[in-house]
Amino acid sequence: MSHILSETGTIFNIQKFSLHDGPGIRTVVFFKGCPLHCKWCANPESQDTGLQILWDKDKCTGCKRCAAACPAQAILYYDKEKRPRIDTSRCLGCMTCISRCPNQALKAEGETKTVSKILDVCLQDEAFYEESGGGVTLSGGEALMQPAFALSLLQALKDRHIHTAIETTGYANPETFRRVTGLADLLLFDIKHWDENKHKEGTGVSNRLILENMRQAIASGKDTLPRLPVIPGYNDALSDAEGFADRLHEVNAKEVQLLPFHQFGEKKYDMLDKSYAYTDVPALHEEELEDFRQVLIGHGIWAFF
Ligand code: SF4
Ligand code: SF4
Repeated sequence: MSHILSETGTIFNIQKFSLHDGPGIRTVVFFKGCPLHCKWCANPESQDTGLQILWDKDKCTGCKRCAAACPAQAILYYDKEKRPRIDTSRCLGCMTCISRCPNQALKAEGETKTVSKILDVCLQDEAFYEESGGGVTLSGGEALMQPAFALSLLQALKDRHIHTAIETTGYANPETFRRVTGLADLLLFDIKHWDENKHKEGTGVSNRLILENMRQAIASGKDTLPRLPVIPGYNDALSDAEGFADRLHEVNAKEVQLLPFHQFGEKKYDMLDKSYAYTDVPALHEEELEDFRQVLIGHGIWAFF
């Protein structure tokens, strides 16, 4: 099958020495852009596809140099709120505001990178992958939103015999899903809610396509690990555990990894000038989810953390 490849794509981070995104020691490449907008998302800077500028109120002194320097007059400084606001429809992406800020209060999220540049970074840790059984994980955002770029990167890694994983929402048309995931060794596949309406409410999209892609992936023999972010008040009731067990049986999954809710993303919402629905909601701990886990196990799905 011929693949359309792309040598460049937009990412927002490359994280080395990760121990939580697949087996062994891994390098995680974070793709920018996501078709879901989960209300609890820990990486809100991943959701939009383009460049974004984050503002840190703790570092900003209100000097307004950013607004004065912007060649597109895209920044308005609001004295009342003591913050600059960027009109993204006018922003040229020139980064002048970032370089002119004397306090490093502005930061860009998102950059165009070539496959070879990313590969260079990944290959720096090849010895660690070999020793630990690790490799490279494509995360995000959603790698399947940049399928040609994801394919090129996966192929380049495969050519060097590096183990690859994709952390995916599974929300992609089935042909794209099959093409891209076909090159990965492992899928870490999130399922956010068993109920379609609740799924729409929490993420903005239906779960039907996601479950169908999960069913296909498992049926094809692809190494697939379903993962369940457990979110307080959204999907953490024991009746939800029963619902998830039913859905997982429907797609022939045997196991699920539970990912308890945490608050890691909260500050980023403020920096992006976005509201966060989970302010002051305490993190969940594994011991609090033991009953939830036991319901899944009791319904024939092996659940673990
Ligand atoms: S990146 Fe350039 S155009 Fe955009 S807000 Fe900053 S200075 Fe203005
Ligand atoms: S230049 Fe930096 S410190 Fe000054 S107002 Fe802009 S963001 Fe704040």
